[in-house]
Amino acid sequence: MLRTKTCGELSLKNIGESVTLCGWIQRMRDMGGMTFLDLRDRYGITQIVFNMETNAALCGQVRGYGRECVIGVSGTVAERSNKNLKIATGEIEILAEKVHLYNRSKTPPFTIETDTDGGDELRMKYRYLDLRRPNVRANLELRHRLGMLIRNYMSGAGFLEIETPFLIKSTPEGARDFVVPSRMNMGEFYALPQSPQTFKQLLMVSGYDKYFQIVRCFRDEDLRADRQPEFTQLDCEMSFVEQDDVLATFEGLVQHLFMAEKGIDIGSLPHITYREAMDKYGSDKPDIRFGMEFVHIKKGLAADASENILPSGKFTVFDNAEWVGGFVARGCAEYTRKQIDELTDFVKRPQIGASGLVWVRRANDGSIKSSIDKFYTPEELKLLADKADMQNGDIMLIMAGIGEKTREQLGTLRLHVADLLGLRSANEYKPLWVVDFPLLEWNDEDKRFYAKHHPFTSPKPEHIPLLDTDPASVNANAYDLVINGVEIGGGSIRIHDRALQKKMFSILGFTDGEAQKQFGFLMDAFEYGAPPHGGIAFGFDRLSSLFGGAESIRDFIAFPKNNSGRDVMIDSPSTISEDQLKELCLTVRN
Ligand code: ASP
Repeated sequence: MLRTKTCGELSLKNIGESVTLCGWIQRMRDMGGMTFLDLRDRYGITQIVFNMETNAALCGQVRGYGRECVIGVSGTVAERSNKNLKIATGEIEILAEKVHLYNRSKTPPFTIETDTDGGDELRMKYRYLDLRRPNVRANLELRHRLGMLIRNYMSGAGFLEIETPFLIKSTPEGARDFVVPSRMNMGEFYALPQSPQTFKQLLMVSGYDKYFQIVRCFRDEDLRADRQPEFTQLDCEMSFVEQDDVLATFEGLVQHLFMAEKGIDIGSLPHITYREAMDKYGSDKPDIRFGMEFVHIKKGLAADASENILPSGKFTVFDNAEWVGGFVARGCAEYTRKQIDELTDFVKRPQIGASGLVWVRRANDGSIKSSIDKFYTPEELKLLADKADMQNGDIMLIMAGIGEKTREQLGTLRLHVADLLGLRSANEYKPLWVVDFPLLEWNDEDKRFYAKHHPFTSPKPEHIPLLDTDPASVNANAYDLVINGVEIGGGSIRIHDRALQKKMFSILGFTDGEAQKQFGFLMDAFEYGAPPHGGIAFGFDRLSSLFGGAESIRDFIAFPKNNSGRDVMIDSPSTISEDQLKELCLTVRN
């Protein structure tokens, strides 16, 4: 071994010991008679002292080294007179006797510190330096701990970790496939798995009734912020279970992770239906750390008008709207004109696309003022304020338009206002299950149904007859785990019957031939004793970033891609040679 100790472990109890440490030079301070050097490795930082009077040659030697040089230092552990209680080794220092230079370093392009001066692009290009920063290291350590906790928990619960192949054929999870040309089968391609979905279902047919895998998945999507073309899932499947069994099993896992990693007892998780989530929060992944639930002012064109809070025939915008609703922001009655304008601009941005925002405030003296004063009587507005449970000092923000779309827009505003009010603390966790998702989603452009989850999801048995008459109204035994407004996991009870699976493919617009060609292997397997089964997958990168209190998953992945799907460090993707192209039977068209 080139070292006897690490830079993170020495303390007062090691005083007098002779040690050898290895690491990178974090910084050096030349104080005339003394030179202080901070030596860093994965475990921490230790101060090394060189004394000009007793060892001038050594002092001279190290003064020639710069930041990030790799050295080994031998010396004696001594108590520091000037202690730094902020770091674990801050009570000691090493009186250096010998130094070995292993390698010099160019001056790094950014500072290797938590608060670095390096921009995103530069840090990604030199990711191997970025990974030296203590905060990034802490993220990867957290990820490792979560992986270990998951593996131990799952194994303890009787699950087997089984690997599934990467070179497969398409698994529809709603994205494009990455494809790999096959040299040995000219003109043919593998697809990289968007998830191990079909394989884990086949494992259930094979009788491995509890499967899990921490596994890489690949999806060729247009990269929205914080998506990676390759990402990691905790993927699970179980046989002879119903929805509640799956939820209970993974609720146990989630509780265990919070307790073991954070010492937080998150208790049992509430269940809310997809419909309820959309109606109350305008989102199928609601953040329930704060209230601000929607007040339905006008419930819908078809709804009984007597249920509407405001009378019709007074304000055309509300009259023409299918739905009118709002939420109350507590203590915000004092919002200035400018603040309201900013909120209005926020909802009018193309990403949200709303046409405007209406407000009603109940001032501290109880008086009510609104942007719709000229349309409604004071009594009508007071009734609205009362029904919405507005207290003095509150404001209600209201939007009107097409039902689901408007609720989603209002939901985005709800999160924005909660951010402004500091109601979304990274240290508070409110997980929940969203259940009873619709089976299908109608796409107006393509004029066809898509699977809301994926084509293997089972309709609720009692809804199966509706597949023929009103497919849009069919609900699935599908569920999501949502934490703080982020979808962390999703799964479903699966179809395990050939005829139903075939029917599902036909509703999704596959001809029998196409369905057989692409998924015949699965439907065939269903004919050899497929047990009832269901499962779930969690986004492991996202789970790690959530536990790390961070928004971005990128800093929890050692070597991530940028927003254009590029690895700027290794410069990939890149072209390949003519020879390779020929060998793969891929010709470039000019
Ligand atoms: N394969 C699904 C996904 O990747 C998860 C599941 O249904 O188990 O979202």
